Amino acid sequence: MPTDAPLDPLPDAPAPPAHRDHPVQGLLLDVDGPIASPVTRTVPPGIITDLLLLAAAGWPVVFNTGRSDHFIRTQVMEPMLAVGIPTGVTFHAVCEKGGTWFSFTSDGAGEVFVDQELALPTSFADDIRDLVEEKYSHLMFFDETKLAMVSVEQSLDATNPDYLEGQAHFDQDVFDVMHSHDMGARRLERDDPDSSGEIGYRIDPTIISTDIESVRVGKDLGAERALTLVAPLMELPHTWRTVGDSRTDYAMADYLHGQGFDVAHVDVRPADGVPDTPYEVITESPLIHEEAGAAFLARCVAALSWGAGQTEDELLL
Ligand SMILES: [Mg+2]
Repeated sequence: MPTDAPLDPLPDAPAPPAHRDHPVQGLLLDVDGPIASPVTRTVPPGIITDLLLLAAAGWPVVFNTGRSDHFIRTQVMEPMLAVGIPTGVTFHAVCEKGGTWFSFTSDGAGEVFVDQELALPTSFADDIRDLVEEKYSHLMFFDETKLAMVSVEQSLDATNPDYLEGQAHFDQDVFDVMHSHDMGARRLERDDPDSSGEIGYRIDPTIISTDIESVRVGKDLGAERALTLVAPLMELPHTWRTVGDSRTDYAMADYLHGQGFDVAHVDVRPADGVPDTPYEVITESPLIHEEAGAAFLARCVAALSWGAGQTEDELLL
């Protein structure tokens, strides 16, 4: 069951290790897009197998997603358990863009933690649920599994063009609901502050969902939490690979680079535009989405066998 976390659950991120003499790389993975198909919203079996192999080889694997803990449990953890998670391996999942997190092993999922300071008011969530039911139930559904943020998602039987057209109207209605709760919000270029001039929340439209969240959550917060989850269990690797399909996913690599880690970002949807970065950006062109994610992970697995004894710089992943 979810529990309340301490008021300040996030200690300072640990410092990177001084030594660079082992080939273990950390993986920080967005889920929707590079791991789970944006069409079927399930994870291909080959990705499950490769993640198990990499984790068994000592690579820390952390999911950093806007999805709920429930989604990770059902779409990632349960398929891994069906194949078999080796004893001693721990996976971590930072969910809801840093608002919740949990770890899982061969024994299943551990406790789910919720940062209550980042959670939206229940009364607001109730109003959004009502809005969906009254006006948009033919296009989208209210995600009942979210514990900190409020999300609606395209119904599988709605077409994406129809959804996107409805989403624009829905998002405008969300502003009205936020106004009624005196909650200041930002959506793309539009700012609508609360009565004290503050903007505490973000309305974030994606191609299949709208997330309503604290402005403090994000993939950078998720990356920071990821390090705090891994650090007690192993020496943090100096080298990390972040994987994502959205521009916001670059914040994972930005954070790790800023902390002094050697990082490269794998962009599985580079058609959105690859920004200038102080670190390497890897693509698996012409593959995109989960096919690109699978190709990258397969190259990581291949490096396990021929990379034994080489330094991480020689692995070129
Ligand atoms: Mg994604």
